[in-house]
This record gives sequence, C-alpha cells and structure tokens, in this order.
Amino acid sequence: GIPAVRPRPLAVRRKSRQIMVGNVPVGGDAPVSVQSMTTTVTSDINATLQQIAELTAAGCQIVRVAVPSADDAEALPIIAKKSQIPVIADIHFQPKYVFAAIDAGCAAVRVNPGNIKKFDDKVGEIAKAASEAGVPIRIGVNAGSLDKRLLQKYGKATPEALVESALWECSLFEEHGFRDIKISVKHNDPVVMINAYRLLAEQCDYPLHLGVTEAGPAFQGTIKSAVAFGALLAEGIGDTIRVSLSAPPAEEVKVGNQILESLGLRERGLEIVSCPSCGRAQVDVYTLADEVTAGLEGMEVPLRVAVMGCVVNGPGEARDADLGVASGNGKGQIFVKGEVIKTVPESKIVETLIEEAMRLAEQMQES
Ligand code: SF4
Repeated sequence: GIPAVRPRPLAVRRKSRQIMVGNVPVGGDAPVSVQSMTTTVTSDINATLQQIAELTAAGCQIVRVAVPSADDAEALPIIAKKSQIPVIADIHFQPKYVFAAIDAGCAAVRVNPGNIKKFDDKVGEIAKAASEAGVPIRIGVNAGSLDKRLLQKYGKATPEALVESALWECSLFEEHGFRDIKISVKHNDPVVMINAYRLLAEQCDYPLHLGVTEAGPAFQGTIKSAVAFGALLAEGIGDTIRVSLSAPPAEEVKVGNQILESLGLRERGLEIVSCPSCGRAQVDVYTLADEVTAGLEGMEVPLRVAVMGCVVNGPGEARDADLGVASGNGKGQIFVKGEVIKTVPESKIVETLIEEAMRLAEQMQES
C-alpha cells in the first residue's frame, strides 16, 4: 500500500533576540507581526492619523511614517501620541531627524545605511539617545539604495552585499554597546531576497523584518511577497513582515495577515473555502463566494465557510467546514457543523449563510 504521509510542521523558528517596538514584542517567541507604512504626507497630521486608524482597523500592528522634512519631524510628537499602534519613524539622509523621532516618543526608528551620509560619526550619539529612551533601531538595507562602496565591491545588490551592509551598520552600533536592533535586507527579486535573509539569519541573532521591496501592483506584489515570506517563514525565518504594494496600505495589511493565517502562524479569522467552479456547477459560484465574503467582512471569530458549486465535492467540504452550502439544481443544501439543516432556493443561499454565520459567531463568542 501507499506509505502514510506524516504531516511536516514548519521548521522550528530561528532563535532571535526579542526587542520591544512600543508594546509589540518582535523576535524571540513573539508572534510574527504585521506592519505597513502610511502614504499620507506625514506633516498632514489629521490625514496621517486617519490612515493609521484605518490600518489599525485592518489589523496592522506597527506603522511606519516617512520623515523627509522638518515639518514631518515636527508632526511626530502628536502622531506618536495619538496613534493606536506603535509608530516607527523612517529616516533617510538626515541624522538630526533620528533625534527628533526619539524625542517625539516614536516607538522605533528606521535608518538606511546606504542613505545616511555622515551618519557613522553620529552612531555613538544615536545609540546613547535610543538606549536612554528604550527605542530600538531598524537597520533597513534596500537594494535600490545600497551603500556605494558595496555596490562597487559586489557589482550589484547581491545577497552578500545586502547582508554585509546591514552587519557593518550593526557593528557600528555594537561598538557603543547598542544591540536593540532589527534588520531588513529588501530586494525586489524574491529569490535574491530569500537568499539574503537566509544568509543574514545565519550570521546574527537580531530579529528580522521581512520585505520584498518595490514588489509592484497589488496582484504581482501579493504573489511575490507571499512566495518569498512563505519560503522564509516556513524555514523559521522572520519576526515581522511588511508587504509592499503599489496599492492602499490597508491592502498590504490584509495580505500580510492572510500570509500568516495561511501558514498557521496567526489564528484564522474568517476563511472562505470556495470551489473554482467548473462545467458541473449549477449555480454562479463566483457571485455566491463574493457575496458571502462581503456579507461576513470584519467577522473576527475563526469560522470556515464553504461555498461549493455542485454535489461532487460540495457535501464533503461543506460538512468539513463550520458552515457551508452544496449547490445543485438551483437549490442549496445548507450545512451547519456537518449536518444539513435545510435546503433553500439559490436566491436565499447568501442570506441564509450569513444568518447562520452570525448565529454561530454569537455562540462562539458566548462560549
Ligand atoms: Fe466543479 Fe462541483 Fe468541484 Fe465546484 S464543487 S469545482 S462545481 S466539481
């Protein structure tokens, strides 16, 4: 007979030091967290706080804001105070904004070793200010802005070049006894990115922030990020993630959370199991699945809802889920916890599923 396949769990998580980004632990045994970045002009305080509120509602745990100007630096105290989630100040070029961000109460500061000129002689002061304030630093290396010396040495942004840049920057902080660090080595090519993080994971015990940079518009970026993060997280590498999309940042957060849920690294919320439909389908599966998804959006309890087009796999999947429909002949058999509770006409499938989902969710919240 066929030998039994033993399910293989994800690799044991790489052991990393834990840092605190505000009240969110990153690294060690902390759950992998999801980050995003605002697209508003940071000095427009209301718009930035509004977007942070939207990101928080979408499930974002840490938010980064860009600080390219003095006006943006001046906005940081109010943003850091009023944001519901920890705020990281993203700083290129201007070391003085690092001090402003620390003074403003930001939860962390991201610096890019390739872009901070005259930064090296300031590291001592930054390390002192950051450690007095309990603020960690992310050393964020990016293929598009790699240190020129390393670009010359390696010819292009290879995994080795990205890692050398990050570790060299770390060593400057370490000279001052500062190790409250997390690192990213982003590249737009998932294969280079995966290899860079693998190399980095072997060379240090700092927590790692995963990102495929400039991943592209929503469809391509989602896939690039899911593939790259999936490979690394399955190897136990990665402590916090940011999906970069040329799309509204709340979309990044949804994708990030879905990646973690898909790997079982985050408790599943609502999960729709729907079939792709085929020549056997006797109802419009796409519309049904879309309408059920829209009707249940925002539901937080872990509920599996199966939307199936016919009686081939329908009853099996519907029975396996918390709730489901197996359609056929313009009708739908509604399953709840494995039992058929009723059969309804096609026009009533969506509302029946939503009603039953609400009822189940209430029961789950009570128990
Ligand atoms: Fe086709 Fe039925 Fe399978 Fe859906 S459940 S893909 S309709 S066979």
